[in-house]
Amino acid sequence: MIISTILLILAISIFIIHISIPTFYYRYMLSNSKCNLKNNEDLDLDNYPLVSIIIPTYNEEKTIEEKIKDILRQDYEKDKMEIIVVDSASNDNTVNIAKKLNVKVFQQSERRGKANALNYALKNVNGDIVIITDADSSWETLDTIKKAVIYLKKFGGVTCIKKVRNNSIESTYRDLYNVLRLGESCIYSTPIAHGEFLAFRRGLIESFNEEIGADDSSSSHEISLKGERFVAVNDIICSELVPKEGYIHWRIRRAKHLIQHFSRAIRDINKVKDKGYKKILIIEYYIHLINPWLLIIALSLDLISSFLGNIISLFLIFAFFISLLSSQIRTWVIMQFLLAISQIKNFFNKEIVWKKEKK
Ligand code: GDP
Ligand code: MN
Repeated sequence: MIISTILLILAISIFIIHISIPTFYYRYMLSNSKCNLKNNEDLDLDNYPLVSIIIPTYNEEKTIEEKIKDILRQDYEKDKMEIIVVDSASNDNTVNIAKKLNVKVFQQSERRGKANALNYALKNVNGDIVIITDADSSWETLDTIKKAVIYLKKFGGVTCIKKVRNNSIESTYRDLYNVLRLGESCIYSTPIAHGEFLAFRRGLIESFNEEIGADDSSSSHEISLKGERFVAVNDIICSELVPKEGYIHWRIRRAKHLIQHFSRAIRDINKVKDKGYKKILIIEYYIHLINPWLLIIALSLDLISSFLGNIISLFLIFAFFISLLSSQIRTWVIMQFLLAISQIKNFFNKEIVWKKEKK
């Protein structure tokens, strides 16, 4: 009886910590997220900078044509846009399609991962501004490049916020994530960036870290370490294709990449000068690597306690399952389990080169 009560109290305490830290963080970021990051400056039309847009591809025959056409529709001087497709030995028609559309195509003879391909392209760009964008993504407005160029007068790097169309878990998760990204950007920088749209001033990134799957996020961190801000902005919106099959595997791979990123980034904590960004990095590390385990520990303790005959514990387990009817709670719980599983799976395979999901 005493043991089960102690276990129950422990379970409840750990659960409260698990919930309250992210909740406070979310509330705090929500209250910060509405700042105005815009410059009042407009773009001097005679002085458009050359923008190099890099599209990394591996077997993107279904998306590459629309992607390139979509970029060409952008309201930006065409001769100030350099579009580069960097392909890593696709075994489909990607390269032929890209070549027909008159863009620069760099071909790697073997596949060594996205970051490796980006590095190859980065060495050969001419633009003052570089934009990285995944083939399976799109930008919501025609003035996306223009807006980014204006933001980059003030910040080192810019990323989009994400919209999801066809998946309810993903879209609940995104709503939460976008608020965090915007709030962090208002404070200083966000440590998470999106491959769908990542723009920076050339020179701020010499190369992408090839040991980390999250090439996008690790470059945002690198820019912040150099003392320049890296921001997500609410008027650059992008979307991507969410896999129709293998959603869970896809989420785990992405979570693995983020965990690799935060495990690496936290080692730089003493090099970070901005106090706000330092806190952001510590809390994001905590939320991605430590907090998920608290939920698992709390549930396990409560389960043991209910096996030992504690009625309250048993009731709490039921209450927990009933709470899963709420889509927000369900998404949260699923994400916690995926983060924990991803951490373990990272020990076996980092998936720097990954299998393409059906989208
Ligand atoms: P997800 O967005 O995390 O699902 O990752 P994707 O599979 O969509 O990959 C993001 C972008 O990187 C897409 O444009 C892919 O074609 C591209 N990509 C993935 N792996 C490689 C690679 O090994 N080499 C190159 N060049 N591009 C890659
Ligand atoms: Mn993608």
